[in-house]
Amino acid sequence: MSLQTIATAADSAFGPAAALSCRECGERFPLTPIFACQECFGPLEVAYDLPTGDPEALRKQIEAGPNNIWRYAPLLPVPADVAEKPNLNPGFTKLVKADNLARELGITGGLHIKDDSGNPTHSFKDRVVAIALEAARTFGLTTLSCSSTGNLAGAVGAAAARAGFRSCVFIPHDLEAGKVVMAAVYGGDLVGIEGNYDDVNRFCSELIGDPIGEGWGFVNVNLRPYYGEGSKTLAYEIAEQLGWRLPDNIVIPIASGSQLTKIDKGLQELIKLGLVPDKAYKIYGAQAEGCSPVSTAFKAGHDVVRPQKPDTIAKSLAIGNPADGPYVLDIARRTGGAVEDVTDEQCVDAIKLLARTEGIFAETAGGVTVGVLKKLIENGQLDPAAETVVLNTGDGLKTLDAVAPTTGPSAIIRPTLAAFREAGLV
Ligand SMILES: *Cc1c(COP(=O)(O)O)cnc(C)c1O
Ligand SMILES: [Zn+2]
Repeated sequence: MSLQTIATAADSAFGPAAALSCRECGERFPLTPIFACQECFGPLEVAYDLPTGDPEALRKQIEAGPNNIWRYAPLLPVPADVAEKPNLNPGFTKLVKADNLARELGITGGLHIKDDSGNPTHSFKDRVVAIALEAARTFGLTTLSCSSTGNLAGAVGAAAARAGFRSCVFIPHDLEAGKVVMAAVYGGDLVGIEGNYDDVNRFCSELIGDPIGEGWGFVNVNLRPYYGEGSKTLAYEIAEQLGWRLPDNIVIPIASGSQLTKIDKGLQELIKLGLVPDKAYKIYGAQAEGCSPVSTAFKAGHDVVRPQKPDTIAKSLAIGNPADGPYVLDIARRTGGAVEDVTDEQCVDAIKLLARTEGIFAETAGGVTVGVLKKLIENGQLDPAAETVVLNTGDGLKTLDAVAPTTGPSAIIRPTLAAFREAGLV
């Protein structure tokens, strides 16, 4: 296919998306399965000709759409009829007003939890996979793949099954049982790699360059520009669910940093389109101490993110060499936010705090994020009088091992009233 034909085909297949553009030098490329700038090797992202005109009409169009991410199709690199194609249709998860947790943390300005455990495979990854899958369909790719810290593998396996793709996904061999089962149950191939995520990722980059990888769509490698756009829907949903306005603060977990940077991109678009009133917001990033390359750089005032060897129970966030790390630093600094980290013990405490205050059982990534929120307030880095949204990106059932050692029955008794009385619970 010539570049000209691709660009023309893209007009309808990619909706409002106009091109891929380099985040470093701004050079533009046609919408193809490439991820690095051919001039400077910088990462590519999707650039748009976004709808102009009456924001009220656009708000109405969105509100009349389906109760999933496709209500935002006019702002995504997908065809207008995307909702009719076989897809898992993630998104429009609950924004929970968390008054109990707010009271416990001393937040007076309002606190919401954006609970993405409600997605089809119980993590936020269904959003990014949904967009990458549509790109794979358009490009005629037949195998869906990824390098994953766990959740992505399950999201790819499930979406591929539903949409009729072959799938072959790669994970570090030592992940939580819940994630391994969820990655394998949808019937695609699951390969455990002897190494950590960064080894898996390096392996996948090699595979893409090999003839074996022809026809393969790695959602977070050669389809990464499209994949990333799925995270913008978190920004759109938070704004719409607050009544088309932005909160003061958003606290977001960081693995590769893609989610955080694309939420910021989504917030900027909302303001530019006039869908929400313009306002300053602060973006905060959350990491586990055992894998904290971005928070370490933030606290040291560095622009360069030095890779780490991950050692944390928050395996879904265990990326030691995060591709979007420098962009996360820029966003946290530009918006007046911060990047912090918590220990594994603080993560477990935060999982239990969220569960006992709001009835939400988060995976370790959610524990890290709520734990960081608590720490930011204690440090005086996040204003408790401001309105805050905190993300829970995954379901606690996926990481039972994190809490199992310190959680269990209050008592085990014979089935008699006497025994219950003796147990000291009443
Ligand atoms: C992948 C993942 C993240 C972060 O993703 P990035 O976009 O790579 O920063 C956060 N939470 C959960 C549960 C995840 O699976
Ligand atoms: Zn470039």
